[in-house]
Amino acid sequence: MRVTSHTAQHQHSNRRYQTFTQGASMIVLMLYLFLWSWLPSAHGLIFKYHNSLEMEQYLKGINSTYPSITHLHSIGRSVEGRELWVLILGHHPREHRRGIPEFKYVGNMHGNEVVGRVLLLQLIEYLTSRYLTDPLVTRLLNSSRVHILPSMNPDGFESSTRDCMNIVGRYNKNGVDLNRNFPDAFEVNNNQQRQKEVEAIMNWLNTETFVLSANLHGGAVVASYPYDNSKRGSELQEGMSVTPDNDVFIHLAKTYSFNHTDMYKGNTCFGSNFPNGFTNGYQWYSLAGGMQDYNYVWAQCFEITLEISCCKYPQESELPALWEANKPALLAYMKQVHLGVKGVVMDSNGNLVQNAIIEVAGRSNLNPFKTDRNGEYYKLLLPGTYTFTVIYPGHKASTETISVLYGPDTFSAVTQNFLLQKLDYSPLITQLPVSTTTSVKINPGNNSASLLANTVTALTALVIQRLLRS
Ligand code: ZN
Repeated sequence: MRVTSHTAQHQHSNRRYQTFTQGASMIVLMLYLFLWSWLPSAHGLIFKYHNSLEMEQYLKGINSTYPSITHLHSIGRSVEGRELWVLILGHHPREHRRGIPEFKYVGNMHGNEVVGRVLLLQLIEYLTSRYLTDPLVTRLLNSSRVHILPSMNPDGFESSTRDCMNIVGRYNKNGVDLNRNFPDAFEVNNNQQRQKEVEAIMNWLNTETFVLSANLHGGAVVASYPYDNSKRGSELQEGMSVTPDNDVFIHLAKTYSFNHTDMYKGNTCFGSNFPNGFTNGYQWYSLAGGMQDYNYVWAQCFEITLEISCCKYPQESELPALWEANKPALLAYMKQVHLGVKGVVMDSNGNLVQNAIIEVAGRSNLNPFKTDRNGEYYKLLLPGTYTFTVIYPGHKASTETISVLYGPDTFSAVTQNFLLQKLDYSPLITQLPVSTTTSVKINPGNNSASLLANTVTALTALVIQRLLRS
């Protein structure tokens, strides 16, 4: 009996022990699964739609895991107060270094087009976990500074429904399409109120000199390049609205489409037909106030629009394949930041000068191309021979013929610095308005008027310089 009682007690404590160990195992398993989903380098980032809080936690985690190659900051807040987080990656993530071009990716501008947001988080995971072990990643981060804004419209994302084609969540909290809210170079009446998300981008473009960029959308599979709009002037050619750098933009769009698993075929989505998987934006459909035109015209940044999924909000199970289809294209596109020529312009005293005009023969931009606040310039060009003329008040114009190789091969554009010589006399130049060298600003108020004024003053300077030269 006692034995029986003892056995019963033993069995009872055994069951309690088993229950305890099962519970403990469950807790350990749940803890493991939780850590598995967040530990960045051990297993990779789980493929799912992270909400804004989860995304913020992930970015902060990455930043603390890789403090030497990442810097996390917010460029502003959405209408509902969500931070617009940007993770910067590079050998010197906290500050610009001379000769290191700035690159950016922007995702989720339309809140219900969510694949870009997922892919950019995966790209962050990929780049950080492979730095110093993967030669391509290492060279990319050593030679450029990469800025990633996974979600430009977090309010729209949070209000989206998981639907392929509807528009719920496309707009920001105020019901505004952010890709129609930028100042437009071709529109006279473009004084609509800027949204907070758009203001944040415009200020961002003022604080960094971006060279190359792409913004990621969904609902089609195609690479679209500027212009998106036209005033039906000389830029309109055979139904396309083309920039003076059309060859470069076609190369950029092609680089993405041909490094993508399917995009180059042009018929990935039902009924679509984009030869070679790219299109001029205006030719596809015209729009005013778009972000890519703003980047190019006002910030000297070459930006294209990437449509990367037929379904705007696909099933999570489809995300790994979408990442694999886009990964080589995302990496190949980043390398293009090294196209062309880069360098500095110095005055006769050897000081670096801002707003020196860099004129490449045959490529007159709507806004003259200029050196940035560091006295640097980065001019994306395909291989070939180009004539550069640098113009700066009080100095002789300097002209150089430059042979350009394919920079992405060596992860560096060709370097060409200009040391300008002072004019012997410069009475005319000193009479020029001071604003000649400082008037061409990004972030215009009255956009069309200031564009015209900038162009006129720049051309005046050009003509006077040439008169003095001849
Ligand atoms: Zn879109």
